[in-house]
Amino acid sequence: MHIQDILAANPTTFSFEFFPPKTPETAESLYQTIRELEAYLPHFVSVTYGAGGSTRELTHDLVVRIQGTTKLNPIPHLTCVCHSEEEIAGILQRYAGNAVGNILALGGDPPRKDGYRKEDDRFQHAVDLVKFIRRFNDSGAHPDRRGFGVGVAGFPEGHPATPNRLKEMDHLKEKVDAGADYIVTQLFFDNRDFLDFRDRCELAGIHAPIIAGIMPITSASGLRRMADLAGGARFPAKLLRALQRCQDDAEAVARVGIHYASEQCHDLLENEVRGIHFYTLNRSDATRQIFASLGIQNSRFAEAPAM
Ligand SMILES: Cc1cc2nc3c(=O)[nH]c(=O)nc-3n(C[C@H](O)[C@H](O)[C@H](O)COP(=O)(O)OP(=O)(O)OC[C@H]3O[C@@H](n4cnc5c(N)ncnc54)[C@H](O)[C@@H]3O)c2cc1C
Repeated sequence: MHIQDILAANPTTFSFEFFPPKTPETAESLYQTIRELEAYLPHFVSVTYGAGGSTRELTHDLVVRIQGTTKLNPIPHLTCVCHSEEEIAGILQRYAGNAVGNILALGGDPPRKDGYRKEDDRFQHAVDLVKFIRRFNDSGAHPDRRGFGVGVAGFPEGHPATPNRLKEMDHLKEKVDAGADYIVTQLFFDNRDFLDFRDRCELAGIHAPIIAGIMPITSASGLRRMADLAGGARFPAKLLRALQRCQDDAEAVARVGIHYASEQCHDLLENEVRGIHFYTLNRSDATRQIFASLGIQNSRFAEAPAM
């Protein structure tokens, strides 16, 4: 389903993010997670795209499998990194052929391999990819006459590559003006950062719906990995203090991390967030506990009659 239709029908969306599994065993375990989370009727699920190599094909495979075997609406991520125009056109063609409705267009993390030169990429920034997808849409190659719906990334705490926050907003606006339908944010742990970002977008004339990215911390090692992956992410003292109190109790860390993320979600809903996107790390337990804490049986509660 086109993201414009999803957003028009739902004042608040709920969505889950997965990464493509590398082995047949992890593929089956992910599929179990997907089945468990399907019961929550998410408005869409998204599948990340690797920095290069064979995992990229796995994104396509997983998206097509979800599309073909579940009622879920899969959105593939696609990045500029290490791609020519012909390759991107081929990928779009394949997704269009499978009636995949939307794409999340990203700059992409650089590969950790020797010899990579960003200047060799045909598309230098996500905005170039958004424009290319729009041109593809105009060609009429997609079964939906509007073509792919397009999402882009936003960074409430700022993107490390652009320390000038005013310029960064200009770059985000370029992506939206080029035709992005919605924005999904990087994870954040202080809602004030998200709410301020939303205000700043409004002031900059960026009116696309902004979906908040939430990642519950479930382990001390996960916290470290996250700090590395989401470079520049701020970890508030309140969160760190709560985690410190857990000492070496792994279960307590997970409980505290999930409780913290639940509180963030409660507050975002109070502040009429347009959507919450859960970075699931391919597991369902944390997300299920957050839904339970929010009292949400499934994502379509907003369609239910008011009490
Ligand atoms: C929701 C979400 C999902 C993600 N999924 C993936 C994934 O699946 N695979 C992956 O590899 N990475 C993923 N990432 C990480 C992302 O690709 C990187 O953080 C990347 O560095 C930024 O992506 P972007 O789309 O914002 O890129 P861009 O919009 O290209 O921005 C990258 C940097 O360049 C600057 N910039 C943008 N346009 C211009 C311009 N015209 N001139 C000069 N500077 C400019 C921006 O300010 C920013 O600092 C994801 C991030 C988010 C938030």
